[in-house]
Amino acid sequence: MDTHDIRFPTSRELDGSDAMNPDPDYSAAYVVLRTDSSDGLEGHGFTFTIGRGNDVQVAAIAALRPHLLGRNVAELCADPASLSRDLVGDSQLRWLGPEKGVMHMAIGAVVNAAWDLAAKRAGQPLWRLLAHADPVWLVSQVDFRYLADALTPEEALGLLREGRRGLAEREAALLERGYPGYTTSPGWLGYSDEKLTRLAKQAVADGFTQIKLKVGADLDDDLRRMRTARAAVGERVRIAVDANQRWNVGEAIEWTRALAGLNPYWIEEPTSPDDILGHAAVREGVAPVKVATGEHVQNRVVFKQLLQAGALDVLQIDAARVGGVNENLAILLLAAKFGVPVCPHAGGVGLCELVQHLSMFDYLALSGTTEDRVIEYVDHLHEHFTAPVVIRDGHYTAPLTPGFSATMHPASIAEYRYPDGTFWAADLAGRQ
Ligand SMILES: [Mg+2]
Repeated sequence: MDTHDIRFPTSRELDGSDAMNPDPDYSAAYVVLRTDSSDGLEGHGFTFTIGRGNDVQVAAIAALRPHLLGRNVAELCADPASLSRDLVGDSQLRWLGPEKGVMHMAIGAVVNAAWDLAAKRAGQPLWRLLAHADPVWLVSQVDFRYLADALTPEEALGLLREGRRGLAEREAALLERGYPGYTTSPGWLGYSDEKLTRLAKQAVADGFTQIKLKVGADLDDDLRRMRTARAAVGERVRIAVDANQRWNVGEAIEWTRALAGLNPYWIEEPTSPDDILGHAAVREGVAPVKVATGEHVQNRVVFKQLLQAGALDVLQIDAARVGGVNENLAILLLAAKFGVPVCPHAGGVGLCELVQHLSMFDYLALSGTTEDRVIEYVDHLHEHFTAPVVIRDGHYTAPLTPGFSATMHPASIAEYRYPDGTFWAADLAGRQ
């Protein structure tokens, strides 16, 4: 098991800037699982962080090493939940959560690497492996502890069996058209109005039917940027807005109402991701504007409560925030039970590459529809991956390369590994 601290100097162009993250250096705490099998296959996984957060995140991943070394690869790949349970159940590390924050994200990176390895060994892209898996086995991959008051294993099995009907037709449609996406590329807070207009028009020309703007730093600026974006895309294209947790509950309601005349589709992360009742109050206060959250929701238990409290209209899973594929299966099942559409968070480093697999599984074998469902898309850093996402006419093309699309080019790791990669070594020497 190898770990790499990979950082990209994105803060220099203000890519990724929002109301809470003015100087993001997009980073990946990256893990590679190697085996002694003659097939030479590796499991790659990572979690997304920002700059110095990666110091802590990489150390947390390394702390899981004893659970990986010497493990039987065939058994691991046949039952990734066995690894997930061992990692979540490590009592000395569990104290740091439980099941939240840095340690849980580390578990997610390692669990996702195991799924990448399992899919590569099966010769399948992960979405297809999941979509065709036996529903009974899928249920065995979910930890129902703390969920049983909202979702039982029997209900989950029923949803998966029902969801399977029409799989072949949907798979054909997915391969033909892909899965709808929306783009955040025009909307970063640090961009000029001219750049916003240019990128918003480009998004429509590229086939996207939804864009997203960062908001929450200054209301007058937000009104002007929203008008600018609306003028660029017209009335038929959806514009979502994202406050990145900037507001108190009351502020969130007032600010969103102030923008409501320009018809925002959803308000994303209006307040703290831990504030379940706060989100419920915002939702009541800003309807018919929808409330979306999830990229910082720490585990399936908080998602359960958000759903039980009627606190969100749009559920935004993140492939690398919770405990990996196993926990995201639980969250997708919860969303299906409550009838809430899942529109994943992506962007960052490699999050688009990962989460497309989960949405495609959701469509093929659970929700059965892409209506009102879109995967976030941000157009940067894809070139560092060996199987980058392919966007065609505003849709994610279904990846056919075996695995979880998590593998980075060795040359990118050699250049951007911190602090000894070639980029950072030169950069740090130049600043001395
Ligand atoms: Mg967001």
